[in-house]
Amino acid sequence: MSTTTRFMLSENDVPKHFYNIAADSPVKPTPVLHPQSKEPVTPDFLSAIFPTPIIEQEMSMDRFIEIPEEVREIYKLWRPTPLIRAMRLEKALNTPAHIYFKYEGVSPSGSHKSNSAVAQAYYNKIAGTKSITTETGAGQWGTALSMACNFFGMELEVYMVKVSYHQKPARRYVMETYGATVFSSPSDNTQTGRTIIAKDPDNQGSLGIAISEAVEIAALSGGQKKYSLGSVLNHVLLHQTVIGEEALKQMDMANEYPDVVIGCVGGGSNFSGIAFPFLRENLKNGQRTRLLAVEPTTTPSLTRGIYGYDYGDTAQIAPILKMFTLGHDFMPPVIHAGGLRYHGVAPQLSALYDAGLIEAIALGQLEVFQAATLFAQTEGILPAPESSHAIRAAINEAIEAKKLGEKRVILFNLSGHGHFDLTAYNAYNSGELTNNEYPEHAISDIESHLPKVNIPVMG
Ligand SMILES: *Cc1c(COP(=O)(O)O)cnc(C)c1O
Repeated sequence: MSTTTRFMLSENDVPKHFYNIAADSPVKPTPVLHPQSKEPVTPDFLSAIFPTPIIEQEMSMDRFIEIPEEVREIYKLWRPTPLIRAMRLEKALNTPAHIYFKYEGVSPSGSHKSNSAVAQAYYNKIAGTKSITTETGAGQWGTALSMACNFFGMELEVYMVKVSYHQKPARRYVMETYGATVFSSPSDNTQTGRTIIAKDPDNQGSLGIAISEAVEIAALSGGQKKYSLGSVLNHVLLHQTVIGEEALKQMDMANEYPDVVIGCVGGGSNFSGIAFPFLRENLKNGQRTRLLAVEPTTTPSLTRGIYGYDYGDTAQIAPILKMFTLGHDFMPPVIHAGGLRYHGVAPQLSALYDAGLIEAIALGQLEVFQAATLFAQTEGILPAPESSHAIRAAINEAIEAKKLGEKRVILFNLSGHGHFDLTAYNAYNSGELTNNEYPEHAISDIESHLPKVNIPVMG
């Protein structure tokens, strides 16, 4: 008898609600602080950069938030995404483990980012926003938001981290085709960019810097432009829960339940998106799934960072958030998983990790590309370098299961495909790729880089 490997839902199964972990999380939300006063922000400050419906979602404590029909209609272009059992990978590993992956690379932009992009564009549209600014690292978020803004007839300005702008020009061509305008960051459009270039003309950029530029443009636009962030904030994690909600149903179709759910972590949105619905089942329905976050050794915010208040961006314009951080001015070593080069981690995810409800590991670039290659050779999909961190972790779990002789059910999120990462694959194939470890000297010093905040004691 042949075994089913693809678990497909129908259009009607596109989730009708986002799941809000804030309703069930045993840890209280931490306040968002103003970058200058370092006091909790007022809605006024946030509304200079975000539209009202987004701010409401950011603070919401409702367990389920209805997905607007206009957003569901667009989701149907690629959702529900497939859940696939990686039988050929299992065979190559000769493991008793069952490995499943949720494939978000089928979206038009090639990653999970479209899930939040479409929602954010929609909420901006109904709030009357005409124009949006944003940052992009590897180009995935910029691509997703370019598509979404085009669907809703809004303009988009993208600040793209300089190293990716040059490593991945093809991403820019896609964004421009959707109608967006793309700048290499640091740029001379902003005070932030000009200051950085004056000090360091060869600065290769970082997500932190690009965020500063996009926020600065929106904040100084007199309400003309709003800013949109592709990860980290509560509303982005919320939108991504469509991944986990679908996966719950699909695991059910497979007649299995995962022992471990795995995702890579940049700002934390794709991991939270697949993990939070399973965390709900742990918290409320007695399940005991392990939730494993995977980060690169070059930007190990969860495994080596400090849990404290830090700026969301490099230039100290964005709000201060309580999160695991390497320091807002941390310049991550250049690796090919550009989407994972962020100094912090989503506050909600950070709090849950701090509370011991989430596990985390850091992996090196070489072992990650080795896993990516094995995955491509067995399952046929060329994975994004970011997602390949999750693949490596899933393989490690399967190897451990084999050693222990146990049938472990492993589910990971394949957050995107790697069709725009061919330079990276070429570097790996020709033996040029290095591990680029975390600069150890920076670790002992994180604390001194964090702002001194004065927050009210929470009850
Ligand atoms: C952006 C990106 C990530 C990292 O961002 P998260 O917010 O942590 O999900 C991971 N994988 C892919 C393919 C991405 O584009």
